[in-house]
Amino acid sequence: MKYWLFFVAKLVLTVALFVGIWAVMEAVLPEPASIRTYKLGRFGQDLTWTTAIFVYFLAAAGAMFLIVLDQRYRCRTCLRRLRMPVNSGAWDNMLRLGMPQVEYICPFGHGTLNVKLVQFTGREGDDWREHDDNIWRELESLSSGGRK
Ligand SMILES: [Zn+2]
Repeated sequence: MKYWLFFVAKLVLTVALFVGIWAVMEAVLPEPASIRTYKLGRFGQDLTWTTAIFVYFLAAAGAMFLIVLDQRYRCRTCLRRLRMPVNSGAWDNMLRLGMPQVEYICPFGHGTLNVKLVQFTGREGDDWREHDDNIWRELESLSSGGRK
C-alpha cells in the first residue's frame, strides 16, 4: 500500500509541476498572431507555441518514464532504492546456466527483485520476492539467549 501511495504522490507532484509550467508558458509566450479576423491556432500554426508544446510533451513524457523507472527499482516494503545488482545466467550458456537476469536486493533485506534480460514471450513482469524475517528472528533469539 505504501509503495503505491508513494507512486501516486510522485505522479500528483509531477502533474502539479507541469500544470505550473503550462501556466508559465501561457503567461510568458505571446498569443498567436491574428490575420484580420482569423486567429491562428497555437498548435500547428504558430511556430513558437508548436515548439514549446513539443518540448513540453517531451519533458512530461520523460518525467513519467523516470517516475515509473524509479518506482520499479524500489523496495516494496521500505521504499529505498534496491542495491547490489548481481548478474546471473549467461547468453552463450543459456540452457546450462539459465537465462540472463539481474537480481537487486533491498539494503535492509526486505526482498529481492529479479529482472529478466531475455523476454522470449513478450514483456515479462519483474519477479519481486519478499524475504522472511526468520533468519533475523533466529539471530535475535540467539543473541538474547546468549546474554541471559
Ligand atoms: Zn526494504
